[in-house]
Amino acid sequence: MDTVKKEFRNYDQSDATAAVRHHYKKMRQNQTYDYVMEMKKKYLTYDMPMDLWDAFIKLNDLIDVSDPDLNLPNIQHLAQSAEAIRQDGRPDWMQLVGLIHDLGKMMYLKGNDADGTSQAEQWGLVGDIFVVGAALPDTLVYPEFNALNPDMANEKYNTDTGVYEAGCGLDNLHLAWGHDEYLYQVLSHHKGNRLPKAGMVMIRYHSFYPWHTGGSYRSLLKPEDEEYREWILDFNQYDLYSKSDKIYDVEEIMEYYGPIAKKYLGDEVINW
Ligand code: FE
Ligand code: FE
Repeated sequence: MDTVKKEFRNYDQSDATAAVRHHYKKMRQNQTYDYVMEMKKKYLTYDMPMDLWDAFIKLNDLIDVSDPDLNLPNIQHLAQSAEAIRQDGRPDWMQLVGLIHDLGKMMYLKGNDADGTSQAEQWGLVGDIFVVGAALPDTLVYPEFNALNPDMANEKYNTDTGVYEAGCGLDNLHLAWGHDEYLYQVLSHHKGNRLPKAGMVMIRYHSFYPWHTGGSYRSLLKPEDEEYREWILDFNQYDLYSKSDKIYDVEEIMEYYGPIAKKYLGDEVINW
């Protein structure tokens, strides 16, 4: 398993990497505490009704610039994750989480270049996330860009705990803005949502690598967060190691996952 692990998330391999590096540089420069507060106000308006499957299809047009392992439309990455979870005989809700975990990227439909939420500018949409309002850790990908973040020159934000209370716990932190928090909030706001807490945690924190894999932010965590981490690491193997060139038939995917989506998200349209 170790050799397999080394082949993914390799950020040191030339070509594709230049674009990934550039993405992370812009993300680090622009994702400040104030920016995140502004995006939450601006995008969490729940005023765009769209069926789950329409949102799913919309992702077909978006390729994630931050991912060095994948040059496929997002929809195929989602199908691969879900099918890997299904093949392992894991619960139906977790299969569904695999299928929808990146659906928040449909935010690009409301997005624009200036916010980093468009097809062309994705630094407010995708990529490994971090806590805003506290010091950036060296466990972040491309830590050499940390100093470019304007908040790191502000003593209100550049300490270990920053604007937070020590031990306040994961759910009380503000993370860099992107598809994770967006989908989490949209589904939290959705009346028909019956996904178990573990599923919601997988959605919200799956890109939070400096915490779940890097082990940073200890001073901000509380003991219960360790359970979150176990859920995320369990999920992460399917997000990461399912990546392949296999193409799934979207009709077949919708046929199998349709009833599961109905069971956990209800019949009502989702307000994005
Ligand atoms: Fe993601
Ligand atoms: Fe993913």
